[in-house]
Amino acid sequence: MSCATYISTRGGHKPLTFLQATLTGQAEDGGLLLPAHLPDISGRLEDWRGLAYQSLCRALMAAFVDDVPEADLGALIDRSYADFNTDEVGNPAPLIPVSDRQVLELFHGPTLAFKDFGLQFLGNVFEYAISRQQAATLNVLCATSGDTGSAAIAGLKGKKHIRVFVLHPAGRVSKRQRLQMTTVLDENVHNIAVAGSFDDCQSIVKDIFSEHVFKQKHNLGAVNSINWARVLAQIVYYFHAYFQATKTAGEPVIFSIPTGNFGNILAGYLAARMGLPISKLILATNENNILATFFNQGKYQRGCVRYTLSPSMDIQVASNLERYLFSYFAGDPQKVIGFMRQFNEQGIASVTNGTPVDPLITACSVDDKTTLATMEAVYRQSGYRLDPHTAVGFKAAQILAPAPEMPVICLATAHPAKFPEATGDEKPNHPTLMQLESLPERYVELPADQQSVMAYISGQTDDN
Ligand SMILES: *Cc1c(COP(=O)(O)O)cnc(C)c1O
Repeated sequence: MSCATYISTRGGHKPLTFLQATLTGQAEDGGLLLPAHLPDISGRLEDWRGLAYQSLCRALMAAFVDDVPEADLGALIDRSYADFNTDEVGNPAPLIPVSDRQVLELFHGPTLAFKDFGLQFLGNVFEYAISRQQAATLNVLCATSGDTGSAAIAGLKGKKHIRVFVLHPAGRVSKRQRLQMTTVLDENVHNIAVAGSFDDCQSIVKDIFSEHVFKQKHNLGAVNSINWARVLAQIVYYFHAYFQATKTAGEPVIFSIPTGNFGNILAGYLAARMGLPISKLILATNENNILATFFNQGKYQRGCVRYTLSPSMDIQVASNLERYLFSYFAGDPQKVIGFMRQFNEQGIASVTNGTPVDPLITACSVDDKTTLATMEAVYRQSGYRLDPHTAVGFKAAQILAPAPEMPVICLATAHPAKFPEATGDEKPNHPTLMQLESLPERYVELPADQQSVMAYISGQTDDN
């Protein structure tokens, strides 16, 4: 099987093409979809060095996609990164020196967070796949605590034969985050403010997806971080950053990644396995340190969610970890199933006896107080503002790579103006966010109850 053939981490799904894997999201056997092989690109690095971002996307993605003609894939890629706004034309992900580190700015997309890299591409792939299959309108359903919802809306608004329904907890997302969603007035966008918590929103979505008749009838789709197209799009910026940070192939680099659902760092891990010379991946968590404990000690143990200054990383169960486990268990689905079953039943599962799991991945957890101190210190010393998520990764890099002999690239996952609550008196701002204040909003309010949400969706999709 080729790199463009997708299999499930649980071994119980027939092989799929790229478009099928993207539309499927989660495999029917409960697993996640992965390419059957990873290409070895180490011999091609120097050919790729001078490529502009979109050209690099084409070169890299071609290996993983064999059911979209090259010209079509190129057009999808061009459209996905056209709305990124940076000083350097053609570079949506600039690398900026900050003291003795480098910050990879991934926040120049339409919603100012790195999720735009995956969701802009996913939106275009969805539209393409549906128009080619002449399938019924796809109804995308998602729950958000903030960032994912706005990025999904920005990726799907105005797309043909797609509607998007986003549930957010009423009054519990920041004003800026709400405006980023509710001021999008495209007809195919439906914001639902649920009278409940984020957990309520998430469980309503989960329960609706398990209503098979309803799901089929309304052709429901998902855009969550396990979608392969998102991961694929994220692999590209690791390569692009590598070329910006080095002069010749073979020079090693370190990446530091603020981590929640393990989607972003998974892309870096796959890049390393494809032959990109990454000497270390630093996995940085906030006080929700389940993944840091897993990689340092081999023990994966569920806890309670703590609410922090970096809310997009307030996660206990990392939905993408299973793809890593598949590789850790050398592609043995039975071992993946056993581990996940034990974790789901007992809330704890182990792979080592207290020792680090992977020589490539080192991890640490950074608390809110240290995050704030890091934001302040970096601003004072370098005049550069980190958002709280990025600050977690920046601090982790200072702890785990204190005197680096190679470039240390810290991924900046959000623009600081998205999280002004975490900054002092001089609030950072951004024109994209400021203009939202004067725009009209549209959303419906519904009780935290599955039937009401299903009735609303039915009411909007009757012409299907
Ligand atoms: C989603 C998000 C993260 C976490 O990324 P994962 O892929 O879930 O690990 C970190 N920072 C910001 C700003 C995010 O929106």
